[in-house]
Amino acid sequence: MARIELKALAHSYKPNPTEPSDYALRPMDMVWQSGRAYALLGPSGCGKTTLLNIISGLVTPSHGQVLFDGTDVTRASPEQRNIAQVFQFPVVYDTMTVAENLAFPLRNRKLPKPEIATRVAEVAEMLELTPVLKRRARGLDADEKQKISLGRGLVRKDVAAILFDEPLTVIDPHLKWQLRRKLKEVHEQVRTSLIYVTHDQVEALTFADEVIVMYDGQVVQIGTPQALFERPAHTFVGYFIGSPGINLLPCVVDQGDAVVDGGRIPLSAAMLQGVAGFLQGGAGTLEIGIRPEFLEIADSGVPAAVTAVDDLGTHAIVTLRLGSATVKAKLGEDRRLSGDTAFLRFPPERTLLYADSRLVG
Ligand code: ADP
Ligand code: MG
Repeated sequence: MARIELKALAHSYKPNPTEPSDYALRPMDMVWQSGRAYALLGPSGCGKTTLLNIISGLVTPSHGQVLFDGTDVTRASPEQRNIAQVFQFPVVYDTMTVAENLAFPLRNRKLPKPEIATRVAEVAEMLELTPVLKRRARGLDADEKQKISLGRGLVRKDVAAILFDEPLTVIDPHLKWQLRRKLKEVHEQVRTSLIYVTHDQVEALTFADEVIVMYDGQVVQIGTPQALFERPAHTFVGYFIGSPGINLLPCVVDQGDAVVDGGRIPLSAAMLQGVAGFLQGGAGTLEIGIRPEFLEIADSGVPAAVTAVDDLGTHAIVTLRLGSATVKAKLGEDRRLSGDTAFLRFPPERTLLYADSRLVG
């Protein structure tokens, strides 16, 4: 397994890129530690597959370098890099049996026959493919074919890294949970470097040691699931992770408070310090951010009008109008609302301040 490093990496599919929007990937520097499981999370079109294909060698980047354990592999083929990659849709040889499909990456590497047989049996057992090992792939359903693809990605133990590109997209929802847990178990056993691309936050948060959030060709945050939830570094992360996403309120800072349309929110000394540089700079937008989970409904505070209450069984989502903005609060079972007006409390340790979409305090 390898430590993967990206140096000033950028990519445009256009021959003569000029605008930032001509780039599928904006310049980035990154280190992926050996043996860790990373999730690469972001909406469709943000550049996840492009980045994965650059790491595997299917795409040559227009700018910058890719290093494996310190060696420049920017122009090396996927075989030379010793990468296993599993794609969104099954890649199987229809005329081969399941066993032959699973053995293929090992035969290619000329492993001794008994070793191939053992490894194929292990992987088949893991993915519950043992009963169909002797069948041809042609007759199998989409779930089973994708399991074969997963198996081909997992069968070799000596790879530099395993790359998964939304591998559970075609899998039936009830099987998804099971397979995801399986992949996590396998990773815990072999501890190879692993990158798992997904647009599904639940999948990313349950699977990875660390999550890399991408947005519009850029990496906007790298962190543990907890860090992404508690301190989103970019408003996009706050909105993309969590359900419902973070509340954002445009504000100005005045005498230690954030003044929003409809009220004043006291800021901590640390937040004021964080925003000081930005305020000196002048232009730009400031926003207060708070997760619905942390916004408190109290006996006093900023008054807001309750516009809707959605009871979801274990908790309720309350929608409120604060000045011209709409905010959401998550209420535990024990909380009750009385009347149409609620008072909002923004706990200072849970309140975040964003300047031009970046966390400043
Ligand atoms: P994701 O995997 O996050 O959905 P992609 O990496 O596939 O994103 O795409 C990022 C951007 O690059 C998109 O705007 C997409 O249209 C563009 N793109 C992807 N592949 C190609 C290609 N082969 N040629 C031209 N543009 C491409
Ligand atoms: Mg993709």
